[in-house]
Amino acid sequence: MEPIRSTLQKNLDSVHQQISAACQRSGRQAGEVQVVAVTKYAEPAWFLELAKLHPTFGENRPQQLADRQQQLPHIRWHLIGQLQRNKVNLALRHASMIHSIDSIRLLEAIRAASDAIGFKPSILLQVNLSGEATKSGFSPIELIQSWPDILRISSGLPIEGLMTMAAESDDPESARPVFRGLRELRDTLSQRPDSIESGLKLPQLSMGMSGDFLTAVEEGATLVRIGSRLFSGLETSPS
Ligand SMILES: *Cc1c(COP(=O)(O)O)cnc(C)c1O
Repeated sequence: MEPIRSTLQKNLDSVHQQISAACQRSGRQAGEVQVVAVTKYAEPAWFLELAKLHPTFGENRPQQLADRQQQLPHIRWHLIGQLQRNKVNLALRHASMIHSIDSIRLLEAIRAASDAIGFKPSILLQVNLSGEATKSGFSPIELIQSWPDILRISSGLPIEGLMTMAAESDDPESARPVFRGLRELRDTLSQRPDSIESGLKLPQLSMGMSGDFLTAVEEGATLVRIGSRLFSGLETSPS
């Protein structure tokens, strides 16, 4: 078997090459897109090696993120999975960005905790554009209607953009309307006078995973969350 490191490097290189090509196709600069390496299924040996090659990791669970952040403090850790309000302090202490703010109540809890303990990670609001009941997130209508409240609650917190997940599918094209919808929603929100007055530009769009990140890049993703694709070809150690 190849060493873990060379497999990871090959996978990373190929992801970056494909992102560059997708940027070229769509008139974007490759430097506008950051890869968040999702480590939730990775064995320790894998993410420890990956940490020598790549600076930004994503985790779904706050406790696992906190444990791994302490193990690898030079990595920027992004929380991408659902956050319960009782885990907000943990998330604030260990995450540099939280992608998954899916309700006003959670935003309020983050604001309160951030005021109390002084940690201010960048935050993204999660939007459910696929309409699946199993996915969390604001509906587009809810986000637009609550926008004045969101601006008021988040004042002083860096809301940097929006995040979404497309429905699972073997066809990446099926995700395109969802990704385009997120970009259009961002444009709508960022052009509002109240957003402009608050200085909220919403530059970040977190969208696209292993199966659909190229479509997401073509539609304007600035953060792609890639897990399985980075670890393909690695063999799970026998337990
Ligand atoms: C697991 C996960 C990913 C990465 O999924 P892959 O298909 O393995 O690339 C991205 N985003 C979220 C929210 C996830 O839970």
